Amino acid sequence: MHGLECVTLTCPYCGEPGELQVEVGDADQEYVEDCAVCCQPWQVRVSIAPDGRIEVSALRDDDA
Ligand SMILES: [Zn+2]
Repeated sequence: MHGLECVTLTCPYCGEPGELQVEVGDADQEYVEDCAVCCQPWQVRVSIAPDGRIEVSALRDDDA
């Protein structure tokens, strides 16, 4: 399953909802995307569930 998925996430910094396009591949991925509202860097985690559902979460860069 490949392609672009449009997901809505809540910014972990400013709390505003934001739309994000994620490129879905075969494996889990993590990358940094800036919030369109406050420009803080989201740590975006994309994981593929066994049933094919896509789970996307945005974390603060300093949570780790
Ligand atoms: Zn934000």
